[in-house]
Formats: sequence, C-alpha cells, structure tokens
Amino acid sequence: MKKKPVIAIDGFSSTGKSSISKIIAQKLDIIHMDTGALYRGITVYALQHHLENNTLNIPALINDLENIDLEFRNIDGNLQLFLNDKNIDTEIRDPKVSDYVSEVAKQPEVRAFLLSRQRKMAENGGIVMDGRDIGTVVLPNADYKFFLTASPDERAVRRYKELLASGVEADLEEVKANLLMRDKIDSERETSPLKQAEDAILIDNTLLDKEQTISLILSYIQ
Ligand code: C5P
Repeated sequence: MKKKPVIAIDGFSSTGKSSISKIIAQKLDIIHMDTGALYRGITVYALQHHLENNTLNIPALINDLENIDLEFRNIDGNLQLFLNDKNIDTEIRDPKVSDYVSEVAKQPEVRAFLLSRQRKMAENGGIVMDGRDIGTVVLPNADYKFFLTASPDERAVRRYKELLASGVEADLEEVKANLLMRDKIDSERETSPLKQAEDAILIDNTLLDKEQTISLILSYIQ
C-alpha cells in the first residue's frame, strides 16, 4: 500500500494555517497536528506556575518541563489538548497566552522537549503538521511543504473576528500589535526561527478565502 503523505504547513500567525490544515487532513483522511497548540499548552502551564510580577521565570519553567504532560484527545471527533489531564483547548486561545507564547517558544529547551513528540507523530506518514519550523527543522523530509503568508492588516482582522466569534473581547489594534510582535520574535530567534524552507511552496492568501487556499494547496498534492 502506498504510504500516506507527510505535509508541512508553516507560516505567519493568523494565516489560517491550523483551520486550513484541519480540513486538508479531513479531505485526505490523514491526521492533523497543530504544533502551535503544544507551545500554547506549555505557556498555559508557565502562566499557572511560573509567573512572577507579570514576568515568566524561564529557568524555573525549564526545570519543570518534565512535569508537563500534553496530550491530544479525540472529543466527539475533534482533537482537543489536555494538560496534565485537564482540557485546556479553549484556554490556549486566550490573548494572555498569545502575549507570552513566543517568549516560551524561543527557548531551545522547550523546543527540544517538543521535537521528538512531533517527529514521532509523523513516523508512519499520513499527517498534516502546521507550525513555524515544520518544513525546516521538524520534518525536513516532508513530502509536501507550504509556507503561508498574508498582509498584516488582513491577518489582524481575521484573528480579531475569530476572537469575537469565540466570545473573547478584543481590540483590533492590540490584536495586530500582538501578531507583529510574535512574528518578530518567531523570525528572529536563534533556534528554529520562522522561515520559509527552500523547497516550500509560498502561498500568499491575502486575497484568498479559506476554501480557495485549501483548493490551491490540494492542487499541488493531488
Ligand atoms: O500557530 P499559533 O499561532 O497558535 O502558534 C503560537 C506560537 O507558538 C507562535 O507564535 C510561535 O511562537 C510558537 N510556535 C513555534 N513553532 C511552531 C508552532 C508554534 O515556535 N512549530
């Protein structure tokens, strides 16, 4: 039997990577792993245990990584993230988590902690993994690699609408500032920075909606 494909989808914040990857996985009948959720999960733990005067105690977090158990569980057909047996799937989208996640994600120890788990998921093929360093570092031999981008204004509006729709209060300018800050930290960090893999297909979806982006990606795969 032909091995199912391994697909890496990287790109900037709020380009729709995760929701697009989820639908592509459904259409191709393969698994989807949202790696941003894992970094967000560690950030939830860090905010609970290692926040001192609005600052994260990073050395304490790093010493404590082995006490973090993150697991995706299938709840009514949807994969939801559990942290030490507690469902944190809604909490990981909280703007406070967005404010701190890139600082957590730039720590080499945190990235090493999550690397083997991500690679293990892809061992048997049949996966769409979305993130920032999937095509460059996590799965450099992926069968297909895509890099998603869109204008900052368009991305900010999308994230803003998403937050409002999920009942989270938001301010458009703050949302945009957070996106730009995360892009900067993610692109400039030393370990596994956000960048397009040389062999990734660039997709700018500023003027494309979700369905059009999905069709475009599938046109390369099928
Ligand atoms: O994809 P999402 O916006 O949920 O990711 C949240 C943050 O997690 C990113 O801004 C980035 O700091 C970090 N991340 C990462 N590497 C990945 C996925 C996410 O550094 N593969």
